[in-house]
Amino acid sequence: MTTPFPTATITGYPRIGRRRELKTALERFWAGRIDADEFAQSVRAHRVQTYHRLAELGLTEDYAIPATYSHYDHVLDTALTVGLIPSATLGTDFDLGEYFALARGTADRSPLEMTKWFDTNYHYLVPELEDSTQFKAHPQHLLTLVSEARAAGHRVRPVLVGPVTLLTLAKTAPGTTTAPLDRLDELTAVYLDVISVLAAAGVEWVQIDEPALVADAHESSDDELAEAAARVYGTLTSALTHTKLLVTTPYGSLQAGLPALAHSGIAALGVDISAATRRLDPTWLDRIAAEVPASVRLVAGVIDGRNVWADDLTATLDVLTGLGRDEVSVSTSTSLLHVPHTVADEPNLPVDVAGWLSFAEEKVTEVEALAAALRDGPQARPTAFARADRALRTRRESARVHNPAVAARVSAVAGHDGRRGAAADRALAQEAIAVPVLPTTTIGSFPQTAEVRRARADHRAGRIDAEAYEAAMRAEIDRAVDLQERLGLDVIVHGEPERNDMVQYFAEHLDGFATTENGWVQSYGSRCTRPPILFGDVSRPEPITVAWSTYAASRTTKPVKGMLTGPVTILAWSFAREDVTLQESADQIGLALADEVADLEAAGIGIIQVDEPALRELLPLRRADRASYLDWSVRSFRLVAAQAAPATQIHTHLCYSEFGEIIEAIDALDADVTSIEAARSRMEVLADIAAADFARGIGPGIYDIHSPRVPSVVELTELIETALESVDARRLWINPDCGLKTRGYAEVEPALANLVAARDAVLTGVRAGQAPG
Ligand code: GLN
Ligand code: ZN
Repeated sequence: MTTPFPTATITGYPRIGRRRELKTALERFWAGRIDADEFAQSVRAHRVQTYHRLAELGLTEDYAIPATYSHYDHVLDTALTVGLIPSATLGTDFDLGEYFALARGTADRSPLEMTKWFDTNYHYLVPELEDSTQFKAHPQHLLTLVSEARAAGHRVRPVLVGPVTLLTLAKTAPGTTTAPLDRLDELTAVYLDVISVLAAAGVEWVQIDEPALVADAHESSDDELAEAAARVYGTLTSALTHTKLLVTTPYGSLQAGLPALAHSGIAALGVDISAATRRLDPTWLDRIAAEVPASVRLVAGVIDGRNVWADDLTATLDVLTGLGRDEVSVSTSTSLLHVPHTVADEPNLPVDVAGWLSFAEEKVTEVEALAAALRDGPQARPTAFARADRALRTRRESARVHNPAVAARVSAVAGHDGRRGAAADRALAQEAIAVPVLPTTTIGSFPQTAEVRRARADHRAGRIDAEAYEAAMRAEIDRAVDLQERLGLDVIVHGEPERNDMVQYFAEHLDGFATTENGWVQSYGSRCTRPPILFGDVSRPEPITVAWSTYAASRTTKPVKGMLTGPVTILAWSFAREDVTLQESADQIGLALADEVADLEAAGIGIIQVDEPALRELLPLRRADRASYLDWSVRSFRLVAAQAAPATQIHTHLCYSEFGEIIEAIDALDADVTSIEAARSRMEVLADIAAADFARGIGPGIYDIHSPRVPSVVELTELIETALESVDARRLWINPDCGLKTRGYAEVEPALANLVAARDAVLTGVRAGQAPG
């Protein structure tokens, strides 16, 4: 008999470590300060410590703990494990040289492309498939995880990204003729090899994650993916005897995938039934009740793996009992990868706010409490249920959360579309802005030098006073403005030295947000961010950016562009509220930023950029939900500048080049000038822009700031000329792809000099009568 599936579990756990142990180990290894053995030892210690902690928190049953650790990325791990990425080595672990070359590149090899994991802020490495790729089992890394855990006293559950998801996320190398999903059967056979090796090692439960089944894919229909899943899991389960499969489907509800998986023969099915997902899909619970046979263990992902709010345990217990099943396991909706470690590490949060939160550790406690309550009733875990009730009650009643003036302001704009009149009239009024044809500008930030970081840190720690801090920032603004003047850029920015992060900075200056000290969440590899927590109605107690922008303006006679982060991006890169809709929060932020626009205008700043690099990120995974999202998100952006005078030029900046799907939304932002990422894809985006007949100013980036390379005048000139083939010279702006804050002045100065020189060269050509085509 196989060990029954545990009653309390989680889909996955943060890998970075409570003290960012993984980040430290990675950075020391990459810097050559520790060797491969020392690296292996330190990450092993970190993993074992994590298992002990999870057991302490209540995950004590066999197979309750999933082994979701990864050196860098779980998609890369699975791709190597099944040979979707060929791997030369067969040790007890991945070959670290090879592994990090794939993840980060080397002097002569570029890294795998990286992109967003479903609708989260985690980024995975995109495996590349070629016709010649021979799938092959490399189970060593998984075996190592299993045996080291066993030696430490834990029976963990190995985890793989599922074959349907892996092939859906993979891209094909140029010249490949076979579509990835056409190789599913071949790949399934290799998954069987991997799982058989685990089975031989005595592993009874293996977890396979198939989030692709909850999203609408580009290439395949929902039915095709469901059919593929039925085939894969039918094959695997009929071949396996002792070892059982848990298939999880995080990040949303299933459609055709539900009956397909429920009847595929798998022993356990993990579903995302968090309150958020139930709200999006009101028939979801009923469909589960109707479709999942009693023979399949339902692993109910009730605790939300993506938000930070304490769960309403009493209500959730009702949901669990309402499922009407004899046996149900309690779990998280998704991996806890997306939340910080523990609220206990946040001594400076207001106590009431801290009481409303659950990070990864607290969520494990909630899962355990629910499992115990299912067994013995809520009185089995009185502390957990009391905390949940208190959180709910105090949050509902808190004056920190509810601000009637904000609510009134939002309802007052309910019917308005936020548009500022005809773009052509604005263009006329904006002719007064003194810029030449093909104006040059930057996206906002200038290099964040060591001095800038030190001054910010010293100020935060109280080592320097506000006056000394402001003087340091002004010196940095002087440096950026002087440089722009010297290089001949037309629209000047102040350089954003005062911003640690484009979202956190605004969150720190708006009421309704809390920021954390240790709330690190992995973005990719060793990179972590600390998303702010939006807990209440948003308002702006005082101007945020005006002093910096006007200081810059006092140092130049050229136009200065004010710089704001837009409402959708602030929302996308924060933990959002669940007691009001995203739309409501976006409107609140939009209106708070509208006050900033008014103050900037009043202070004489005639150009204002509102960055929305995350507009595309929040796009729902299901096509049917997209139109309404784009409606409200775009309107919240327009609210920011709805009251701006026609003569004020509103810019926006978007950070991606796949435009097609949302080009209409970008058009509807109604910004006077839009800058976008384009250099990396060699201006491919221009085809979309030309097709959409985009009527206002547009600045496709010509300088790829993601690389330290300084582009030459010749290549920049070519890119401008390419752009002029699809964009009228009167509408084209010349700018880099994105902000410069991650670059050094040593690269930025020559690159911007070349950018201006390229513009001048093109202008000379235009004047000489070689009219752009
Ligand atoms: N204004 C921001 C900057 O230049 C924009 C950053 C972004 O697009 N992600 O840094
Ligand atoms: Zn950008």
